[in-house]
Amino acid sequence: MEAPGTAGVMAMHGEIPQGCDVLVIGGGPAGSSVAALLAKDGIDVVLLEKARHPRPQVGESLIPHFWKYADQTGASGLIEQAGFIEKAGGISAWNGKIHRIAFAEFGFTRPALHVERDVFDQLLLNHAENQGAKIHQQVAVNRVDFGGSRPRVHYLDKRGGNACEGSIVCRYVIDASGASALLAGQFKSRKLIDSRMRFLSLWGYYENARFIASDGASHPAADIGKVKPVTFVTSFEDGWIWHIALRRLTSVGLVINTDRTRGMNRSERERFFLETCRRTPHLDRLLEPAEYQDNSFCERPDYSYYSTRLCGENFYCIGDAASFVDPIYSHGVLNAFYNASMTALAVNESLKDPSRSARHAQLCENRMRQFYGFSRSLALGEFGGDGVDAQLVQHFMRSVPKVELELMLAASFMSERSENFHRLIREAGLDRGSSPARTHFMERLEL
Ligand SMILES: Cc1cc2nc3c(=O)[nH]c(=O)nc-3n(C[C@H](O)[C@H](O)[C@H](O)COP(=O)(O)OP(=O)(O)OC[C@H]3O[C@@H](n4cnc5c(N)ncnc54)[C@H](O)[C@@H]3O)c2cc1C
Repeated sequence: MEAPGTAGVMAMHGEIPQGCDVLVIGGGPAGSSVAALLAKDGIDVVLLEKARHPRPQVGESLIPHFWKYADQTGASGLIEQAGFIEKAGGISAWNGKIHRIAFAEFGFTRPALHVERDVFDQLLLNHAENQGAKIHQQVAVNRVDFGGSRPRVHYLDKRGGNACEGSIVCRYVIDASGASALLAGQFKSRKLIDSRMRFLSLWGYYENARFIASDGASHPAADIGKVKPVTFVTSFEDGWIWHIALRRLTSVGLVINTDRTRGMNRSERERFFLETCRRTPHLDRLLEPAEYQDNSFCERPDYSYYSTRLCGENFYCIGDAASFVDPIYSHGVLNAFYNASMTALAVNESLKDPSRSARHAQLCENRMRQFYGFSRSLALGEFGGDGVDAQLVQHFMRSVPKVELELMLAASFMSERSENFHRLIREAGLDRGSSPARTHFMERLEL
């Protein structure tokens, strides 16, 4: 290993080594999973996380496909024990039409979940540590220097009150820094997508909100845990809204075009959020008995982006650090897990035979682009624009397990966002036999 020039930093919470095989930036689902997978195989992994877990995070709805990745990392047992809310399916009220899907009809043997992300993400991070990854929280990576024979990762260690700088040399660096997209920023490879499909999100949390079950009837908050909720999604004139019932609180958020709140300050945006929730049909009923949690308002600005450079001989960008698509189909955490799984494989093989590093990086990048294109075709009507290759996506569609494709196909009838997904499915000859039959049309909701 190259002799490091900067001494490792001794801090209250343990010494950050001067070198390692793999350095992971960020301890969200992507970073924790790739760290767990590599550490499990005996690889020397260091993960630097700028926050201190549990830290708040949005994205509470998980579709059932995620279990196969949790099985790979070995985290499934811990997730099962955590007692998250099992959800029954989804209901959407989109431009006046109500649709419902129930996971039980697809033959999934394990549940979809509504998770408190602070709890879920901490669990994954602890799991990575238990697999042998060296985790250092409150350490923020500033930049990665690719000038030498190996990447040198520069960080600011904020533990113990005093901020001090340091650096660590590694063979592979994996950027899992989420929306910060550290390497994409450094490479200037981050691209925003077409302005018509560029969104921001405003959300907050309510206590005591009613929730909807899969039969379309609503229940009081006290029934959560006894009756399975669905994720409820409704369109409104400016975008769409989610309602996700958690154990104590309900997460409610708007997704709207970035132009919609231009010129508003933060308190005006919060007011816009609250007023929209109050006057949106169905949601107004669910929130009637609820109390909004003061100081729970959050926002994520303009977030539909992708990076044109994902994997190279000694770097990988995964999860939200690689791309982000509108969250309507709950693909974010799944994408993070998928990217982590592909990257662990590529890095593992590259460590065994470094002469093939470039080849593994290229294969991994192709896989990640397939998944990104798949998610994007589902969620964004304007498919086929920059950054997406239709043939790669169709290749991916053919390789997806039938039950997963059928669920996505059924889900794609719940909004009016998926016409390109339908076209790709048709052109790939995958529509036969998997009709929208499992998307049920409903006359009305009993709220
Ligand atoms: C409004 C909204 C709603 C969503 N809803 C859903 C949903 O219902 N279901 C779903 O599956 N997905 C959803 N998502 C997406 C989901 O939240 C993300 O895709 C997921 O969190 C990505 O995981 P990640 O590990 O890539 O990034 P993150 O979870 O963001 O983790 C990145 C980590 O990196 C750390 N970090 C950042 N910069 C640095 C640095 N410089 N140095 C060290 N550490 C750093 C951060 O502190 C963070 O802990 C939603 C997203 C948004 C914006």
